[in-house]
Amino acid sequence: MSAKPDYKVLAEMDYKVGQVERGYANRTLYVNLSDNTIASKPVTQEMKDIFIGGRGFGLWLLWHGIGAETKWNDPENEIVISPGPIGGITQYPGTGKSLVVSLSPTTHSVMDSNVGGHFGPLLKFAGWDAIEVQGKAEKDVIVYVDGVKGKVSIIEAPAELETNTHILAEQILEMFAESESEKQGISSVSAGTGAEHTLIGCLNFSFYDVRRRAPRVKQAGRGGIGTVFRDKKIKALVVKYLGVKGDSNHPADRERITKVGVKMHKEIHDNDPLQCNMRQVGTPYLVKIMNDYDLLPTHNFKFGSHPEAEKIVGEVWKRRFTQGIPDGCWYGCTLSCSHSVDGYTLKTGPYKGQVVNVDGPEYETIAGCGSNCGIFDPDALLEINFYCDTYGIDTISFGTLTAFVMECYEAGVLNKEITGGLELNFGNAEAAIELLHQMGRGEGFGLIAGQGVRRMKQIFAEEYGADPAFLQDIGMEAKGLEYSEYVSKESLAQQGGYGLTNKGPQHDEAWLIFMDMVNNQIPTFEDKAEALHYFPMWRTWFGLNGLCKLPWNDIVPADNAETDEPAKVPEHVQNYVELFVGVTGRQDVKSGEDLIRMSEAVYNFQRVFNLRMGFGTREHDAIPYRSMGPVTVEEYESRAERYDKQLKELVGFDPEGKTTEEKMATLRKYREDQYEKLIDAVYERRGWTKNGIPTLETLKRLRIDFPEVVEVVKQHL
Ligand code: SF4
Repeated sequence: MSAKPDYKVLAEMDYKVGQVERGYANRTLYVNLSDNTIASKPVTQEMKDIFIGGRGFGLWLLWHGIGAETKWNDPENEIVISPGPIGGITQYPGTGKSLVVSLSPTTHSVMDSNVGGHFGPLLKFAGWDAIEVQGKAEKDVIVYVDGVKGKVSIIEAPAELETNTHILAEQILEMFAESESEKQGISSVSAGTGAEHTLIGCLNFSFYDVRRRAPRVKQAGRGGIGTVFRDKKIKALVVKYLGVKGDSNHPADRERITKVGVKMHKEIHDNDPLQCNMRQVGTPYLVKIMNDYDLLPTHNFKFGSHPEAEKIVGEVWKRRFTQGIPDGCWYGCTLSCSHSVDGYTLKTGPYKGQVVNVDGPEYETIAGCGSNCGIFDPDALLEINFYCDTYGIDTISFGTLTAFVMECYEAGVLNKEITGGLELNFGNAEAAIELLHQMGRGEGFGLIAGQGVRRMKQIFAEEYGADPAFLQDIGMEAKGLEYSEYVSKESLAQQGGYGLTNKGPQHDEAWLIFMDMVNNQIPTFEDKAEALHYFPMWRTWFGLNGLCKLPWNDIVPADNAETDEPAKVPEHVQNYVELFVGVTGRQDVKSGEDLIRMSEAVYNFQRVFNLRMGFGTREHDAIPYRSMGPVTVEEYESRAERYDKQLKELVGFDPEGKTTEEKMATLRKYREDQYEKLIDAVYERRGWTKNGIPTLETLKRLRIDFPEVVEVVKQHL
């Protein structure tokens, strides 16, 4: 695309950009693509007090935008994007996140996804605390928020625009930047052709990398929101805002946030090289640790380690990542973990031969598309990473569902006839990549696989005569969402961390494996329940405020281990209290417990939202047995010594002379029983009934006892 294309404006609204005050623009933007409505809605004090921002605003707006009968592909469904009040400050690392909320095509319930890139903060500085997009366009459109001119437009997307992100993000810059320097002030949200043809579409949030002179993207991956985006015929959401400054949020007390920021930057500078080395390696540092502790998903979560894992560990990626360029995904993030493999020549697919920058890979992509599929070739992982991103496909769901397909193929559930010739054995990178291209093109077996694990289980049982119980055991999904990439078999708390989530098994709600399995810090059900109360609430808080979780505990103060509760990183919790009060000026917030209460309100509201949509009860917190223990003889026998010992010591069952099947059945009964006991303990701690319903007292305590919320809950009590 050389010259700026002509485009037709379908609707527009002028507005006064105004000034963000204490982290809030104090209004949200509503866009309806069915009738081209554009409107401004006020942010009420109640919204700020109870829902805070980010995920909280998204849930509140979605609740009022849809009904109990709304389906993901109804025009009423919405995509809401909101940054949160702290989002956009430049004094502290990890403050550029956006939170996306929508009804999911894979879970049919409420989904939230946390993503970097510049869209959220620029949206706020352009005058909006959230954008809420409802309706469906007839033809592809762009929603353009011009925070320089004070104008919101719905534009018919010019025909020459591509759909796949790596080209589209460049075209958007050419289309909307008046000069090279303006590119920094533009961010787009887009998906790709894979999001159109599958249910696992992700959203790509761009930011312009000045040093590489190219747009880069971060993904809101989970739950198929990219699929909703393309179903609405949105080509891109675009925001322009020029002149981000250290005080663009107009915080209540700038000195207060600067003080903790300065301390934190020094801490990162001094400690990161000695701790996780995020600045050079990023999240791939986790691969070796997970492999060493038998936690790296391998062959569809059958195992937790593999002899070839050394080919995809952090050191390998450190050599591939372009070093010497700060890789923060928002200004001021000195932890700078968003690495990129620059100048990679694509070997396959429609862009074969193109030289591209690959954003990542992150740990989840390496583990999900790598070890979990038995693929240990870094180039194959770069190929998958790149094409997942540009096609708008979530790498976690792609990895986990491909691993499931591979196990089904090896178990004889699938064959070459069904897969259209793809030999989907573990380790066949070529076949995995072709499966991905099929999703991008909307062809062949890719169309079936792209529906996700839950639907595949049904199709394989109904159409290919597979045993539904076996598929249920090995299909790594819960609530319809594919598992993220940690083996939870030896950590009961992590089984709960995955199963007792609002949106489905994603580690951003709770990651307790080390506390539980490695350090044995939470031995009793009560301890685990306390952790499954505190940590999901704590992690939720980042999503209310537009924050990245990584600077909380991927870097810790040098003396953190000597504190009373090192897993909480108490000094950093206090930093966040300072940031929140410093930005919003809320004097009622004094301690970390006050932050937890904010999350509790939103978390419980989301639970009730699930109830309203027909989910959210105990039966929906069930998890596949593969996440609790060994499903197959092969799995049991690979760790027979461990399991035999547990049978003797924990179950009081003598494994001597017993068949593997007998031992597996006994172990299974024990582990399933443990999980049920854990659920009881967690529900009690969270103030829920035995069926997982927040009680009326809980709603009242959290000030979310709105009549319509109480009405939903009463139907279940
Ligand atoms: S720590 Fe990494 S992911 Fe988080 S904000 Fe910084 S660069 Fe982005």
